[in-house]
Amino acid sequence: MGPVLNGLLKLQSVENLLRAEKAKLTRCRRNVVIQENLIRSLQNALEAKKEEMQLTKLQFDRLELELKSRDETVARLRASLNTAKTNKEYAAVLTQLNTMKADSSKIESQTLELMKDIETDEAECKDIQGQIAEQKETLEQTRKESEALSGKFEAEIDKIQAEWDEVAKAIPADALEKFNRVAETYDGHAVAVVEQQEGRQGAYSCGGCFMGITAECVNLLMTKDEIIRCANCTRILVLGNAHES
Ligand SMILES: [Zn+2]
Repeated sequence: MGPVLNGLLKLQSVENLLRAEKAKLTRCRRNVVIQENLIRSLQNALEAKKEEMQLTKLQFDRLELELKSRDETVARLRASLNTAKTNKEYAAVLTQLNTMKADSSKIESQTLELMKDIETDEAECKDIQGQIAEQKETLEQTRKESEALSGKFEAEIDKIQAEWDEVAKAIPADALEKFNRVAETYDGHAVAVVEQQEGRQGAYSCGGCFMGITAECVNLLMTKDEIIRCANCTRILVLGNAHES
């Protein structure tokens, strides 16, 4: 290996730092998005609950109205009891009156049930509103923390990027282009260190995909400064410290 391969090896270590720092920035920003989504889903739940409550209230109002008109009918029937001219007529009105009262009492218990539902819904709405307020506070906190941390990560990324550019300057353009292309494919891992297979003298494998590497390849890496790529995964092969001349 010579300056090109050693340069790529160095670039890989800076690339790793750069990617790690960028990942930290992404994670830190994601916390804000997660918190925002949580609040949005609570707001949706609140809207749904309010809508449900609105429908229950409508039904309640409708039954109340019906009860009122029934009360009027009951009053009218009571009056006609007094003016009944025959026993038969009296009995008929009485039956009508009792039926009316029995139905009214059913409707009344229905309205009581609905009232209970409305109270439960109101309590749930209040509970969700409380959760929203709480989560909004958490969001503010998360946002502040995220902004502070993001600034730090961004500064660190700029520093590492400058180092990356510096190391890249010393690498020929075609080698750098290969590095960037493979890095794109393997989430930043363009360079693979050749590893000696355990317990097997002269047997080597790619540190990226663990497939075998020929002794000729290793020999070339030791004696020349050319880019050799793993036949299996196409990563750029280099020798680790033990092989450095
Ligand atoms: Zn490989």
